[in-house]
Amino acid sequence: MSRYVVLDLETTGVSYAEGDRIIQLAYTVIEEKKIVKTFNTLINSETTIPAFVQQLTQIQTEDLAKAPSFEEIVPELMEDLNNSCFVAHNVDFDLHFLNETLEDTGYTPYEGPVLDTVELSRIAFPSESGYRLSELAENLSLHHVVPHQADSDAYATAELFLKISEVFRKLPRPALKHLLGIEHMLKSSLRPLLEEWFEQAEDAAGELEVYRGIALRKINYEAAENENIEADFNEVFADFQTGETISKVMPGFIRRSGQEEMINFVHQIFTGSKIGLVEAGTGTGKTLAYLLPAAYYAAVYKEKVVISTETIQLQEQLLKKEVPLVEKLLPFPVKPALLKGRTHYVCLQKVENLLDLSFQESYERMVSKAQIVVWLTITGTGDVEELNLADASDRFLREVSSDIQSCAGPDCPWFSRCFYQRAKKAAKAADVVITNHAMLLSDIVHESQILPSYSSVIIDEAHHLEEAATRHFGTQLDYASMAQLLNDFTTRGQDNVLEPWLSLYTPEMWKRCKEKIQQAREEWNDLFLSIYSYADKGAGRGETGDVSKVIVRDESWNYVLEAAHRFHAVFTEAVDELKKIELEISSDTSTGPAYKNEQTALDRYIHEMDDLHRKFMDLITHQQEDNVYWMERALKGPKQSITIFSSPTEVSQLLADRFFQKKKRVILTSATLTVNQSFNFVIRQLGLEDFEVETKVVASPFNWSEQVALMIPNDIPLIQEAGEDAYIHSIAQAIYQTAEVTEGKMLVLFTSYDMLRKTYHLVSNLLDDSYMLIGQGIQSKSRTKLVKMFQQFDRTILFGTSSFWEGVDIPGEDLSVIVMARLPFSPPSDPVFKAKSDKLKQEGASPFIKLALPQAVLRFKQGFGRLIRRETDRGIVIVLDRRIDTARYGKQFVKSLPDMPVHRGSIYDLETEIDAWLHKPLKESVYDGDH
Ligand code: SF4
Repeated sequence: MSRYVVLDLETTGVSYAEGDRIIQLAYTVIEEKKIVKTFNTLINSETTIPAFVQQLTQIQTEDLAKAPSFEEIVPELMEDLNNSCFVAHNVDFDLHFLNETLEDTGYTPYEGPVLDTVELSRIAFPSESGYRLSELAENLSLHHVVPHQADSDAYATAELFLKISEVFRKLPRPALKHLLGIEHMLKSSLRPLLEEWFEQAEDAAGELEVYRGIALRKINYEAAENENIEADFNEVFADFQTGETISKVMPGFIRRSGQEEMINFVHQIFTGSKIGLVEAGTGTGKTLAYLLPAAYYAAVYKEKVVISTETIQLQEQLLKKEVPLVEKLLPFPVKPALLKGRTHYVCLQKVENLLDLSFQESYERMVSKAQIVVWLTITGTGDVEELNLADASDRFLREVSSDIQSCAGPDCPWFSRCFYQRAKKAAKAADVVITNHAMLLSDIVHESQILPSYSSVIIDEAHHLEEAATRHFGTQLDYASMAQLLNDFTTRGQDNVLEPWLSLYTPEMWKRCKEKIQQAREEWNDLFLSIYSYADKGAGRGETGDVSKVIVRDESWNYVLEAAHRFHAVFTEAVDELKKIELEISSDTSTGPAYKNEQTALDRYIHEMDDLHRKFMDLITHQQEDNVYWMERALKGPKQSITIFSSPTEVSQLLADRFFQKKKRVILTSATLTVNQSFNFVIRQLGLEDFEVETKVVASPFNWSEQVALMIPNDIPLIQEAGEDAYIHSIAQAIYQTAEVTEGKMLVLFTSYDMLRKTYHLVSNLLDDSYMLIGQGIQSKSRTKLVKMFQQFDRTILFGTSSFWEGVDIPGEDLSVIVMARLPFSPPSDPVFKAKSDKLKQEGASPFIKLALPQAVLRFKQGFGRLIRRETDRGIVIVLDRRIDTARYGKQFVKSLPDMPVHRGSIYDLETEIDAWLHKPLKESVYDGDH
């Protein structure tokens, strides 16, 4: 095949049968790897173009009047298609629509070979974030001048096809061989091309190697020698203070006295072997402030420093952005390493097994396998997060990623090339290991078997540590995991290798076992139906309105226990039967290596069953006194869509004994650690009361009194007095009036989804069409998507609940006002909050003073921190909850904020203040430091 017609259609809709027609047809002809012809025409289909299609394509109905009819252009099209391969981006649509049109006009439909560039780009570029033509055009620098116009789309698709071909052409033979084994399941007629490329390809050379039939990128992991580094901290720090070096590597760098204070503080804590808590206000530049002394300490004192962040994204940002900067600032090299949880790394043994499977598998799995084959020739990390898999199901991910149960360790033939082992080895040799709280806590749970040994640690976003520990020291189990495992095992499905094998190999034993598994499946269903009845009595909606949480604690739980014991009995019998089969197979020497994959799959099933059974017992039949148990239920899903959770009520002692006690140097940092200028709350939460800790507050360099004003309307009723409905009416009116002044640009923070939803409906009735009102759980649940929408449009108002109180970063003019609908106290029904409160009550302490208030103040500070993200931002925070003024504790909220003007008055009066504040020019420089 050497001639390709890359075609794109614009149509009035998606269904020819329902009267939709082609309005533009364009194609690009490729011969010998070059574009040799382009063809483009509007088509007069004697139809009216719907408004949204006109908007999308910029083609108006009147544009078609002078265009040729489809019949007029067919001869040229058919001539070009003759002896060519048909290529399109989403070939099913274009080819189907074209063929229906051809047939209807009396021509023979095209039946030659086809190539789909969506499918092929998935395989060739397995790490792309999306496969829409516009996304690929942007990321691969294709010419795509006018998206949604057929000529531009066809040209961009042709370029895309050439890039895809380039990737395939460079693949080594073993990779192409694997693709040839998968090709029959693809939409694209790729075989002739693959065969041609295979003939021309080499086995593997240069950066690639072949091991056990799989082509991989060579990774020469050589630990750099640990040189003796002699550098004086004061000299390094003095160089930083002059700003000379950093200005060269970071143009526009601004000196901040707070950042320098923090560098010194971290250095002192490290050299003095202590625990330090540092609250670094927004804009301090805290990452650099801890990274610089940490890297210095690690390299000079030969002491590994672990840095833990809350999220994987922050981990990546540290490694890719901040560490390279620090490397440029220091007069010696730094050896960083990033270590994620084991399941983030692909297991090469599992991949080998998967590629050997000769079963008919689903289309998505086959494409995913092809993606992995190509990706292994590129990846240096083996981190599955680099992949955008066609089958992104948990099940498939489990089938390809490393896990402790199925890992053969040093006996694995892939051990020396294993990505997880290499990441661990790199972490062992590194000065600075970047990890996340989940990993850090897993390491604590597994008694230091995951991270390399370390005594010095920096915990960023430390206000999350207690919550992360509560989650991590607990367990969870959902209905679907067990149901799916039991189902998949006994169903003769496309992807099940075991059922047909066991039916043939040990028919009698398998029959018995299968019966038990089916009974267990029924008991599991019954168990979750009784859990559903229990949960149905339960609590209100969660933060997105589609989940409810119910605490497990009263006597009717005994009915659930009866069903649980029935499940337990039959499930244990099923696992025993399965283990007998495993024993029978492993002692049969005649099987040899022929059933290696099946045996591995059987092992994996048994491990998974044991693992789920242990969780089931921990959560249902063997509950502990000092844990809290609860369930979360999807309100709109099937009855069994329930997950059961457990957590220790208190993690402070666990953290003290199992973590802080064992570390010599610890920095805990965040922008929000103090309540009422005191670290006491966080010290108590983290179990640091018996340790000697040093604390520091580094003030934000922003000029708050110039950049933010706090507004407190005094004509909003108190909810306790007026009732919820009146309160909601009142805040809806206030939000509307404020929006009229600010022209949107508002983030409204709620503490309950019900209130968000009710307020949303009222405000949407008040606003005219020029505003865009976006609600969490209304347009979307995804925070990223909602923030993107918020930034995309003018005059926008975004309503969010708890996950919006922090972590949302909207710098600049897009966000001018934050409205807090209520002070952010935790809902009293929250299971963990409730369990902690009950415990405090039993100890004779006030749950409000010791828990609810400090938690709310910290969250209030986080919500406030969303507004000003850089020195040129200016805005207003409006607190609609008058308890901030009327309640005795209200002062603590105001006192926890930096100094700024506070305006009180009726909403009507405040409108003028808001207008004046937002239009007041900002002073030129608001930094306290030199530039
Ligand atoms: S060592 Fe374990 S995780 Fe690594 S490839 Fe082998 S089985 Fe997989």
